[in-house]
Amino acid sequence: MIKGLVDTDSLPVGRWSQRAVRILAGESLLPHEAEEILSAPREEILELLSGAYRLRHHYFSNRVQLYFLVNAKSGICPEDCHYCSQSKISDAEIPKYKILSEEELLEGARRAAQLQSRTYCIVISGRSPTPQEMRTVTSVVPRIKKELGLHICACLGLLTPDLARELKACGVDRVNHNLNTGEDHYEEICTTHTYADRVETLQAVRDAGLEMCSGGIIGMGEKAEHIVQMAFALRDLGVQSIPVNFLNPIEGTPLETRHDLDPIRSLQALAMFRFVNPDREIRIAGGREIQLRSLQPLGLFAANSIFVGDYLTTKGQLPSRDYQMISDLGFQIVVRNEQGEEIVCDPPEVQADPLAIVSN
Ligand code: SF4
Repeated sequence: MIKGLVDTDSLPVGRWSQRAVRILAGESLLPHEAEEILSAPREEILELLSGAYRLRHHYFSNRVQLYFLVNAKSGICPEDCHYCSQSKISDAEIPKYKILSEEELLEGARRAAQLQSRTYCIVISGRSPTPQEMRTVTSVVPRIKKELGLHICACLGLLTPDLARELKACGVDRVNHNLNTGEDHYEEICTTHTYADRVETLQAVRDAGLEMCSGGIIGMGEKAEHIVQMAFALRDLGVQSIPVNFLNPIEGTPLETRHDLDPIRSLQALAMFRFVNPDREIRIAGGREIQLRSLQPLGLFAANSIFVGDYLTTKGQLPSRDYQMISDLGFQIVVRNEQGEEIVCDPPEVQADPLAIVSN
């Protein structure tokens, strides 16, 4: 039973919890039921999260996986993804640099370990990796694994089967390549590569024996059916890890004026991903601070993982706040020990946030 929380099996069963129970008995959610989650009455949010939590708890108990990412190459990207500050069509003021050195990437990995991340994500901007970028990544990954035993995820753009095999051979565990949105909405957010290109990369990753990490961004003008389409596509591809981002409408990008989300809509999306992909790792990714706002902790009743630290070109909240949130929920962090084995531990002791202390 989860520390500090009741056994979910003893909870009263409402309509969303009933669906969760049926899913645990082997039924799958249908697309129209997934759309219903996204349009559920707002007053049902706690019951919806209770159903999502029933699934999350069944597969992941009270565990939270932390991810730390390094923007290993920033900007200078020839693609036109409308949400991205690193695209050639973005005027956002961001740092622009070529791939970091191996020493800098190792330093980032040490920081990831210090923050109790289980996974270190090496992310580069660009359509696909150059030979020199591949050399850097394939050379540094064995060093990181030897020194820190971290789980490594590489996000390097479109990959051929040969490139995917090279990553596997050097010790990369997982590749991130997001579908980003539903197939029918894809051309609205990018024209320089296709949805099919992205699926092909994921297939190459899977065929190389790597784990697939793929998710998307909510709030880019899509309809509910597009989010559902993406959730089912990820299920059908068999991805192991699903990052759910919420659009941060960065000034200077084509989507800078989109403000479609609020905390309840964002929670409904997380719950929907859990119902469609009950046993997959679901991560609350970029945009959580600005779209979930004060309801961030509720997101962890559906999702079982978060990024700690900063995002690619935007700031995240302080790691101490994340630890406090996890600790206040009575949840625990999964880390890897020096032998690379997963162990569960409590978040580091954090000082109470002075803003949360009410004086009489
Ligand atoms: S998301 Fe990736 S491929 Fe698209 S513009 Fe940004 S860096 Fe380039």
